Amino acid sequence: MNASFYTYIKNELQELMQKGLYKNERFIASPQGAEIMLSDGRWVLNFCSNNYLGLSNHPQLIEAAKKGLDTHGFGMSSVRFICGTTDLHKTLEEKIAAFFGAEDSILYAACFDANGGVFEPLLSAEDAVISDALNHASIIDGVRLCKAKRYRYKTADMEDLEKQLKAAQEQRFRLIVTDGVFSMDGHLAPLDRIVSLAKKYNALIMVDECHSAGVVGKTGRGITEHFDLRGEVDIITGTLGKAFGGAIGGFTTGKKDVIDMLRQRSRPYLFSNSLPPAIAAAGIAYFDLMEGANQRCQQLHKNTLYFKEKMIAAGFELKPSESAICAIMVYDAMLAQQFAELLLEKNVYAVGFSYPVVPQDQARIRVQLSADHTKEHINTAVEAFIAVGQQLGVV
Ligand SMILES: *Cc1c(COP(=O)(O)O)cnc(C)c1O
Repeated sequence: MNASFYTYIKNELQELMQKGLYKNERFIASPQGAEIMLSDGRWVLNFCSNNYLGLSNHPQLIEAAKKGLDTHGFGMSSVRFICGTTDLHKTLEEKIAAFFGAEDSILYAACFDANGGVFEPLLSAEDAVISDALNHASIIDGVRLCKAKRYRYKTADMEDLEKQLKAAQEQRFRLIVTDGVFSMDGHLAPLDRIVSLAKKYNALIMVDECHSAGVVGKTGRGITEHFDLRGEVDIITGTLGKAFGGAIGGFTTGKKDVIDMLRQRSRPYLFSNSLPPAIAAAGIAYFDLMEGANQRCQQLHKNTLYFKEKMIAAGFELKPSESAICAIMVYDAMLAQQFAELLLEKNVYAVGFSYPVVPQDQARIRVQLSADHTKEHINTAVEAFIAVGQQLGVV
């Protein structure tokens, strides 16, 4: 009986391989950065990490983490409400709340947990969640864990959102939920119009700022800053695993009572370990770093603009994007794989995405810019794109 189970798993894996859906992991032999060493000793330019601000290997964050280890030890061995809360956790929560202009925030082991634990404690069967169709998997899973009625609208389509809001008028509370920046296209949620519709149809708003915090808006405060709508969003979730140092950790911000309710009822918070002190200490250092100058964010904006201009001038088709994510369209899945492989031969590391990660016949190369990229890095990447693009007849 058990043998048939293991045969079944083996067959499923083989099917993934046959369909080209099997994911191989590439080994990185250096710290994360604009240039990384692969396991074969080759240095390549990295255009596929979420290290938007170039802080993943920043000396001040490393120093703060080391100090956190020295003063607070290695692990907490507890959930927050038993004996897993230190001054570092509370300070970090205050800094996160201040960064987003919210009353309070709550830490999780990851944003996957923040999103997994946000809906169920706040909403019940009388309520509605109205979710963008391209929202992150963790939002989809989080919504599944709560009893609220589910509505879905076409990504960033405000006509469809309005239709869903009308359909959900019978429900007690309505929560619109959206990614701030969508990771496969790089487009922003149209927050200005979402806020108007939320007012018109009496709905709450939640934004997941994972790809937008630290990136979008003049000082990197996310899409609420970009649209000049700070304080107009009820709940913001985000990660410490991308622009904010890139280690691990997630959070939810909002009104004090909402955060308090999550501390009482959110299952990934109640039943999962507290963040290691070193991570919390480095998180605090990150927000201290961002309080003053925001040169890194400005550099990222400059780099993104520069890359896009060069690519468009070279004849590539880029999805419209106001984030640090650029989708270079090649449409054909095989072509996307080939393109990425040839780029890597030229020491440029970017990833080809195809169905089912993106819609059928919408294959692309995704490039993510970083504040750590120099002009030379970007020039080299664009030259590689042009050479491969010409070789494959894309441009
Ligand atoms: C990366 C990401 C997450 C998950 O964040 P982790 O902290 O890595 O769990 C959630 N939502 C969005 C939109 C993301 O891009």
